[in-house]
Amino acid sequence: LNTKKIEHIGIAVKDLEETMNFYENMLGLEKMAVETVEDQGVNIAFFQLGETKIELLEPLNDESPIAKFIDKRSEGIHHMAVLVEDIEAKIEDMKEKGARFIGDKPTKGADNMKIIFVHPKTTNGVLLELCEPLDEEDK
Ligand code: ZN
Repeated sequence: LNTKKIEHIGIAVKDLEETMNFYENMLGLEKMAVETVEDQGVNIAFFQLGETKIELLEPLNDESPIAKFIDKRSEGIHHMAVLVEDIEAKIEDMKEKGARFIGDKPTKGADNMKIIFVHPKTTNGVLLELCEPLDEEDK
């Protein structure tokens, strides 16, 4: 099962506007989109960087997993996302090999992707997201 590339790096931030100023105006990256994902309690901004993206995540409220992350660990790199070809098959294959996931099946994430997180116990500390673009009919 093909694992294609690092799709994006997710970064937890307190203030999206302020952080976007750095990536857009100082570093000079192209802003692709800003969107809200209520399910995950986040505002998200994407910047293109070659074949990959930077994903900035700002918590919407104190219950957001990103708010909890910032409380415990401070702002900074939150997760790495890898693009896979068939996410359901990949999850099954990894489960057979002993991987643990956060949740049972993929959910709809930002950027029209199906996503799931691998448990950090499985990856020795990295929060790893698997993602695959949604089919047209699932959008
Ligand atoms: Zn992500």
